[in-house]
This record gives sequence, structure tokens and C-alpha cells, in this order.
Amino acid sequence: MSQQPHNFSAGPGILPREVIEQAAAAVLNFNNSGLSLIEVSHRGKDFVAVMDEARNVVRRLLKLDDSYEVLFLGGGASLQFAMVPFNLLSTSGHAAYLNTGVWAKKAIKEAKMLGKVTVVASSEAENFNHIPKDYIIPTDADYFHCTSNNTIYGTQMKAFPNSPVPMVCDMSSDIFSKPIDASKFGLIYAGAQKNMGPAGATLVVVKKDLLGKTDRKILSMLDYQVHIEGESMYNTPPVFPVYASMLTMQWVEKNGGLEGAEKRNNAKAELLYNEIDRNSLFKGTAAREDRSYMNVTFVMHDDSKEEAFNKLLKEANISGLKGHRSVGGFRASIYNAMPIESVQVLVDVMQHFEKTNG
Ligand SMILES: *Cc1c(COP(=O)(O)O)cnc(C)c1O
Repeated sequence: MSQQPHNFSAGPGILPREVIEQAAAAVLNFNNSGLSLIEVSHRGKDFVAVMDEARNVVRRLLKLDDSYEVLFLGGGASLQFAMVPFNLLSTSGHAAYLNTGVWAKKAIKEAKMLGKVTVVASSEAENFNHIPKDYIIPTDADYFHCTSNNTIYGTQMKAFPNSPVPMVCDMSSDIFSKPIDASKFGLIYAGAQKNMGPAGATLVVVKKDLLGKTDRKILSMLDYQVHIEGESMYNTPPVFPVYASMLTMQWVEKNGGLEGAEKRNNAKAELLYNEIDRNSLFKGTAAREDRSYMNVTFVMHDDSKEEAFNKLLKEANISGLKGHRSVGGFRASIYNAMPIESVQVLVDVMQHFEKTNG
């Protein structure tokens, strides 16, 4: 291929090129064994070392102490919508949820099948264009669930509440994008394919003392304790996604850790939001104070010009910018691996478009 496209895909999303190359090499020849990463036993010492390092690099990045366990599971973040209530919601209790978008709603739907749910606040009436702030988390809830970054609507929680009950967070689309205080959370989960690796693995970080309290019988594959005891290998783990996720996390670590990622992500997001605000043809869709630094959503004042803009995007080798159908317009996903040079190319196209079509 002549030139790498500028990949703004929302998910599966962009990964560092060097990670793609290393992962591809391991599929051909894993650790100089002559065998492929995807054709050797997950219980062999080479892959056990991968799983150990994948879990350890999560510990290092999030500065986790021994009260937390780190798991890589299958099933996507969507399976966590069910696993969380299965493990943490008692049959007579209730769980508190913050409704900030489609993913939060799906999490609520699953929890309701297993017990009582209290929705503490929702921005649904405004098409999820902001994060509700003034809500009260009931002190008798079994847990409080929130979504740190709303991939579809381009909103992001800039601060987390001081929850009186264990806080559970879906961080699928902004995990490892900036430092967080992990000790505030009882459970964190993230599907790999937005900011960490290929689809097929889901990261779960869980505080051990939350487990074993529910009065419910838990199916083995849905039981965090079973996966903890199996060291994430109760059944065959998604070997390739775990390997590539490990490489991406090591790449984050090598490039200044979460502080370095935050600096780069802030610079990219500011560059793009400044242009959206300056450019007379475009406007952002999310409330300013809640704007996501991972998924930048914007529309045109005059959407009859979309086709002409799309043509320019194509000529500039920009891909994946189409907005989600529930918001329309455009969505630029600028995950960790997105270089600022690609964001600059998009900004240049927007400026050129204003000059020629304004
Ligand atoms: C993509 C996404 C999901 C769904 O992830 P799957 O791995 O496809 O199940 C859940 N939550 C958020 C915030 C997402 O961005």
C-alpha cells in the first residue's frame, strides 16, 4: 500500500503500527519457535508468560495493589453488562446506574433481568449530549455503575463521584488514555477493541473483597472467582487479542505511561475541538464541559454539504469518520494510537473546505 490511511474508526479502532507488525510477526513465528502464536497451547510456558505480563502491565499502568485481580475474558464488554450484576447484585438488593448512552442502557437492561435497578440520572431526553452531574447514589445500593466515555455521543466523565458504594465502570473507550485513581473503583471493565487491542478480549479489574457476597448461584463461566482461580485460563483465553493487548500496553508504558498518553490525547483533542469551534461550517454535538477526548462528534450546520466534504476526506485518505446513526454527522475517534499528524490532516481538510464551500 502506498500510504497508510488516517484511521478515525470508532471500533475496532487504530492500534500502533509497531504493535500490528509485532503481532503479525508472532502469528507467523512466535518467540522463534517456528510455530504460530495461534497454534500453540495456552498452557505452554511461552503463552503463560504472555498472560502473566498482560496482567502485570495492567497492574503497573493502573498502579493496582494486591486487593485487585486482573482478568482477560472473552465475550466483549457486553458480557460484562451481565456478569457484573450476576456477581455483585443480591436477589433482594438493588444496583444504581447512571444512564449516559446506548452502552449504559444495555448494561441497565441486563441488570434488570437479574434484579432491581435504580437509575440515578439520565441524559436520554437530550439525546445523551451531556453527563448528568447532580445525582445521589443510594447508600444501600449493592454497587454504582457508570460509563467513563460514551463512544457514540462523544461525552466523557471528567470526574468520578465519591461513591458511597462500590463503583463499577465501563471504560471500554478510554481505558489507558489518561491516569485514573483506580482505588476509587470496585470493578473496571473494558472491551479491548477501542483503545487496547483486537476485538475478542475484555479486561476486568476487580477488587477481590466484593466477590462471594451475592446469594445467587453463578454459572461457572460467569463467575469472576472461577476465572481468578484459573488465572484467566479457566477455559482457553483469546490468545491473539491478549497478546496484542499486551504489546499495546507495553507501547503505552514505553511512551511516557498514562501521563504521556494524556498529554498527547489532550493536544489532539484541543487541536480538533478548536477547529470545530472556529470553523463556520461545523459545530460540536456534546456539551463543552463533557466533550470526549477520545471520540469527537460534530455535525455540519448545512448537512447538504456533507457529500462534498466526504469527497475531500476520501481524497485526503481519511477513513472511519462517519458518525453513528443515532447522532449523525461525523465522529473522529482519536484513540491513543492516533498520531497528531493525522488530526492535523483532518483540520487542514476542514479549513480547506471552509475556504472553498463557505
Ligand atoms: C464498544 C463498547 C461496548 C461494547 O463492547 P463489545 O466488546 O462489543 O461488547 C461497551 N461499552 C462501551 C463504552 C463501548 O464503547
